[in-house]
Amino acid sequence: MKGGSDGAAASSATASSASTSSATASSAPTGPRLLTGGPIAAQIREGLTADFAAFKERWGYSPTLAIVLVGADAPSAVYLQQILRTCEKVGVLGRLVGIGSDVTPDAVCNEIERLNADPAVAGIIVQMPLPARIPLRTVIDSIDPAKDIDGIHPRNAGLLSLGYDGFLPATAQAAVEILKRSGIEIAGKRVVVVGRSNVVGKPAALLLMREHGTVSILHSKTRDLGHHTRDAEILVVAAGKPGLVTGEMLSPGVVVVDVGINVVGDKLLGDVDFESAKGVVSAITPVPGGVGPLTNALLLTHLLQAATAQAERSAAAAESVAAR
Ligand code: NAD
Repeated sequence: MKGGSDGAAASSATASSASTSSATASSAPTGPRLLTGGPIAAQIREGLTADFAAFKERWGYSPTLAIVLVGADAPSAVYLQQILRTCEKVGVLGRLVGIGSDVTPDAVCNEIERLNADPAVAGIIVQMPLPARIPLRTVIDSIDPAKDIDGIHPRNAGLLSLGYDGFLPATAQAAVEILKRSGIEIAGKRVVVVGRSNVVGKPAALLLMREHGTVSILHSKTRDLGHHTRDAEILVVAAGKPGLVTGEMLSPGVVVVDVGINVVGDKLLGDVDFESAKGVVSAITPVPGGVGPLTNALLLTHLLQAATAQAERSAAAAESVAAR
């Protein structure tokens, strides 16, 4: 967000503390089942708090998550507050690395190289979108794949597409986990994903295929979106367009995962028009409160994995020097 040629054999990069399952969806008094991410995230965080305390006990420090923010935009501000709060809750040091939007691409890469070399920093995420003048590919390539806990480096993206273990893009993973942990069967279902971005739509489609869904991917050039969305038994929407999918574009009983987070005035809206969809769907993730909370919790399970692997590597290197 690893296996066999169908990409289905390997397990995900989720840490052990994230693997407890639960049916945590709630039902509104009337209307569809709401698939809320909060209770699942709380359960994962509980495990993580214990795991990060054990890490500190074992290695003598708390790992740091570095969040690189180039310039600023409204969705980033919302997201950053959430991730920093989650870090604090589980005992991770969150380090915000703010870079002005007027810097050169080289300056951004140099900053990332410094974080790659900093042993206290276990994981690096780069807040998207980047200013237009900073080439995304250059920045992504400069992240050490071992610290790329949101799975954006080509190495991790390649591992995902081949079905091997690596760091998964956390949002895509959250979209799939919320279904699995709510007891919704994916295998054999007609699953439609709206959006093909490298960070959400594409990895979500790969993960859903790994879960044996029959997956179609729709995008901005797809003709007659509704024709395709109406075919879905499970619909995952990650388009960044508020209210793009309306009730009349859905078949009765569909399960909807709305990944969209759109700041509209003082509101956060999803990509699905909840009001018209709620009478048609059997279950839906609310926005906010659906995929979002789970994303951060999963990201920190990746941080724990990264920190543990790095600490073990350093200890092994020190031992081999001492043995000389
Ligand atoms: P993006 O802009 O990179 O990609 C959007 C995708 O949607 C593209 O592939 C595009 O082809 C497709 N699309 C756009 N308009 C469309 C249309 N009219 N019909 C069909 N497809 C269309 O966005 P992204 O980074 O993938 O994010 C998607 C959404 O998910 C955004 O709302 C973003 O804020 C949200 N998001 C949520 C989380 C979370 O934790 N819940 C995390 C990251 C992103």
